[in-house]
Amino acid sequence: MAQSGSSIEKVRAWVDQAERVVILTGAGISTESGIPDFRGPQGVWTRDPEAEKLSNIHYYMADAEIRKKAWQQRLVHPAWEAQPNAGHAALVGLERRGKLHALITQNIDGLHQKAGSSPERVIEVHGTVTRVVCMRCGWKGPMQETLLRLLTGEDDPPCTLCGGILKSDTISFGQNLVPEVIARAMRCAAEADCFIAVGSSLQVYPIAGAVDEAKSAGARVVIVNAEPTPFDDIADAVISDAIGRTLPLIF
Ligand code: NAD
Repeated sequence: MAQSGSSIEKVRAWVDQAERVVILTGAGISTESGIPDFRGPQGVWTRDPEAEKLSNIHYYMADAEIRKKAWQQRLVHPAWEAQPNAGHAALVGLERRGKLHALITQNIDGLHQKAGSSPERVIEVHGTVTRVVCMRCGWKGPMQETLLRLLTGEDDPPCTLCGGILKSDTISFGQNLVPEVIARAMRCAAEADCFIAVGSSLQVYPIAGAVDEAKSAGARVVIVNAEPTPFDDIADAVISDAIGRTLPLIF
């Protein structure tokens, strides 16, 4: 606890001195809002390894039964009811102080924007569950409109323009990332003078590489995560306390 206390003081001072703080968030920042992560102790995959199939593009495109299950899960996705927590709010405070250069998020839940972070500062490297995309013609539209079609009896609603397969506008496993979005995230990481990774196991590439990018460009690197990550050794500080308690103390 004393260790965590002194790290918090140190990181707070770094943030005070910094001009361009870049934050990378992962699923861990939203667990306190009731959205489970994938790899934490209560994570979706930790509890049910089969659930990974629903997030895999190859199974999704090939199997209508997988898509029907995925749509049922989207219907009851915790993001619809979830409210931002103290961690999200602290990042809004950081932006109001004029220090937030970019908020890179692996999350698809839209909670940063719901908390009040400016959409133009949020870089959603894995997309968002608040939109749908047609896998054939590329049409995009609001998720809620497609979910209404489920309520009227469709179990695998096709694109109304071309009949293609619809999916949440998220990057599934096995699917290509959007190169411009990743390039922007990496550029911002390299411009940081203080880079803080929050609630990510830092196992998903290429975005985990943003930590190296920031470090080699000279930023102070901080990791706030309950469990160890592969980048703890190169971090200038590691805080393994709860995010909702930690972020309000360092910003
Ligand atoms: P992850 O599941 O791999 O790791 C989350 C980490 O956060 C774990 O190491 C866990 O120990 C830590 N953690 C959880 N709650 C915490 C808390 N309250 N305080 C401190 N630490 C906490 O998450 P990831 O690295 O983001 O990778 C998962 C992938 O799945 C991402 O790419 C993301 O797109 C997606 N995903 C998103 C959401 C979401 O949008 N909320 C939820 C699950 C998964």
